[in-house]
Amino acid sequence: MVTNYTESALDHDQESNSEFLNDFWKAALMGYGSGLCIGLSIIYIMISTGNLKWHARIIEGMEQGIITWRRKKQRESLELPCRYQVFGCQDVFTYHSRHQHEQNCKFHPYNFP
Ligand SMILES: [Zn+2]
Repeated sequence: MVTNYTESALDHDQESNSEFLNDFWKAALMGYGSGLCIGLSIIYIMISTGNLKWHARIIEGMEQGIITWRRKKQRESLELPCRYQVFGCQDVFTYHSRHQHEQNCKFHPYNFP
């Protein structure tokens, strides 16, 4: 009896859960659909006006943005925190200066009195 009750309760939960998911996907698709419509009309306007210079500029700008973003990511990945960060060192270095710093770091565990 107890098992039956638990199972039916579980079924009910799953049902309301999927209903919620259905609503969620409907809303998401509607949002995506309207966004797609706006995007398509912008592309349509750009093509129909034949303003391809403007179009090329946007692509150029996007490419520049992606390159800048990639460079930024690359630079960030080259910056490393001090090896003794766990001991309280807050400094961040590039690979080579980090190695130098770590030999003189005041948070170096062997430098403790
Ligand atoms: Zn340090």
